[in-house]
Amino acid sequence: MQFVPSYPDKYQGIPEQEIFERIKAAKQKLASKVVILGHHYQRDEVFQFADITGDSLKLSMEAAKRPNADYIVFCGVHFMAETADIVNDGKKFVTLPDATAGCPMADSAKDKDVRRVWSYLQSVIGEFKICPITYINCYASLKAFCGENGGTICTSSNALKVVEWGFKNFDKVFFFPDQHLGRNISKLYGIPKDEILLVNYRKPDLGVTVEQLRKAKVILWNGMCPVHDRFMVEDIFAARIEDPLIQVLVHPEVPEPVADNSDLMGSTEFIIKTVTEAPAGSSWLVATEVHLVGRLIKKFSDKKIKLLGKPICMCSQMDRTTPEHLCWNLESLAEGKVVNRVSVETGIIKWSKIALERMFEITLLNDEANKLSGKSTSAIK
Ligand code: SF4
Repeated sequence: MQFVPSYPDKYQGIPEQEIFERIKAAKQKLASKVVILGHHYQRDEVFQFADITGDSLKLSMEAAKRPNADYIVFCGVHFMAETADIVNDGKKFVTLPDATAGCPMADSAKDKDVRRVWSYLQSVIGEFKICPITYINCYASLKAFCGENGGTICTSSNALKVVEWGFKNFDKVFFFPDQHLGRNISKLYGIPKDEILLVNYRKPDLGVTVEQLRKAKVILWNGMCPVHDRFMVEDIFAARIEDPLIQVLVHPEVPEPVADNSDLMGSTEFIIKTVTEAPAGSSWLVATEVHLVGRLIKKFSDKKIKLLGKPICMCSQMDRTTPEHLCWNLESLAEGKVVNRVSVETGIIKWSKIALERMFEITLLNDEANKLSGKSTSAIK
């Protein structure tokens, strides 16, 4: 299949160094009017130009702290740019250098499907008994759905606290779109395996019996991240034979057997922090996206760091954004033209913010409680 770039033809065939110089010049011209956000999974040629790097929520929150920036250029995927627009109340111009950069996990949960499943669950279980929780990797309309229905949002770093909150206030949790994150976290929270139920939204009865739904404590959507889903437990066993001292550090989007056989589990920020603080000479087997692991390997040459498994787990959607896209986006802004704007409807912003604010309250409350009890707040496992 031929790759068709989603930027104007005039940007094709320009030598890389020239593109880099033009990006720097456009950035300089825009000065504090623009802030470039770079997600950890971006390719190096793009990542190097980011003013702020991090995971999606951190990036959106940091961008909100730049009052002079009229433009937020989000080097990431579509739902992340939507989150930046929500956090900034739709008041800034948020752009996505490659408008086609999406997320298959977010795509697996369409608004109409989630609402249909929700109605069915309520008809079987009853109203006000289920807490809808969405992973932040979803479209804005689903964040709003959770806000409207008493639920909230979680990230990969606060998912355990959010699920705990869900069970304090409701009988059951409906978790979407990532089944792996939902399952790994529910197990850590202490929900027995036979009370965690995976449903198939494509089937009218969700592919399960009414009795199963009534018994379940956690109902999982059957979505997943195709990148993290590829990690295999056999590769952990092989690596441990080769190096018995190796420590296995995984992102919670990995499948259950990989999570169960890891030493530590946490968000991308947690993975970076753990490796950064590890002593020289320590060995690490890391299960997350290849661009991030590659940067850790380069930066910490005094530590033995390896990507888990033989297949290259690369997010092809994150990889879509090239220096040409960034150059086109910035040069357009420098000329006063906004290209590839991502904008969320006012009503959706309102309810999404309610869900987000609920999440912040839960996280802060838990952090305070954990400080008092001396518990760690960053690692999931
Ligand atoms: S790494 Fe997975 S969850 Fe993240 S954007 Fe890519 S496909 Fe989506």
